[in-house]
Amino acid sequence: MNSRIERLRAELDRIEVDSFLVSNPVNVRYLTGFESSNAFVLVKREDVVLMTDGRYAEVARAVEGVDPQIVDRDFLPGVATRVGEVAHGPVGFESDHVTVARHAELVSAGVELVPMSAVPLTLRAVKELGELDAIRRAAQIVDGVLVRLAEESVVGRTEADVAWWIVQAIHDEGADDISFDPIVGSGPNAALPHHHPGDRPLRRGDLIKLDFGARVDGYCSDMTRTVVLGPASERQREVYEVVRRAQEAGLAALRAGVSGAAIDRACREVIGQAGLGDAFSHPSGHGIGLEIHEAPRVRVGSNGRISQGTPVTVEPGVYLPGFGGVRIEDLAVVRPGGHDVLTTATKELLEL
Ligand code: ZN
Ligand code: ZN
Repeated sequence: MNSRIERLRAELDRIEVDSFLVSNPVNVRYLTGFESSNAFVLVKREDVVLMTDGRYAEVARAVEGVDPQIVDRDFLPGVATRVGEVAHGPVGFESDHVTVARHAELVSAGVELVPMSAVPLTLRAVKELGELDAIRRAAQIVDGVLVRLAEESVVGRTEADVAWWIVQAIHDEGADDISFDPIVGSGPNAALPHHHPGDRPLRRGDLIKLDFGARVDGYCSDMTRTVVLGPASERQREVYEVVRRAQEAGLAALRAGVSGAAIDRACREVIGQAGLGDAFSHPSGHGIGLEIHEAPRVRVGSNGRISQGTPVTVEPGVYLPGFGGVRIEDLAVVRPGGHDVLTTATKELLEL
């Protein structure tokens, strides 16, 4: 049996259930390698039941270490009925994923449900070497794209055009996919942390916030750099330096055993001291893996300890309406006495 399933099975006693129903397709893939739009895994003490419908029968039968069961495509009488038949005792389930309707269907099939949202997500936080390898390659791809972008002439092109250019470049560099739609925020739009690229043309004097990532073997990377269509003004340099120092303070605090809240505090302290605390409106980072945002959180109140082998981003920002904004984001992997930064793009303010 694979070690990921063993780790989930080891949780059954702690959470006082006899089996665990995994419904989030990302977690199904993580545990079994099986990718489909309709698959559920019931991890029991004695075996693992993989339920899917006839469209995926052949692939499901090739998955190692599971008992494949082909069920009706509708949740009831499909998965719900089968879980009712094969589960004995209380069943843990992903309460952050199962809909209210499906919950009712499971109950009507006689399943005793125990809500547990975070169990599979917590398992995913610490990565194996192969997973870290994929993330590292995905990070290299975005580094390469930024170097190429810095050589492009972008003045006069729209944000949306630059975003499409980034998507194509990520593909050219060998990624499977993008990890999210690139963010290109220019001038005043750089003040919007998650601005959707639009038809505003890039102009001389603009700060340009660029946030993008690639996917390799399903694993995501994520990087933000803010550049200026130079020359940079005094104020742009000042704000940039504050964010850069905050980002470096966050990284300096990053090592095994530290909490996400402590990293967040380290970033926030620098920005607060510069009198810009109110202009930093989002968490300082996040875990990353098969999904762009996953455990652990790097924010106020995240008091769990981050373990070695966990990749996280550190990405403070300052957003000033009318002026624009600056965010700098690196991807790093936590080590016992520190971390490895996977992002190698320069943090000098690039004037394009
Ligand atoms: Zn990002
Ligand atoms: Zn991010």
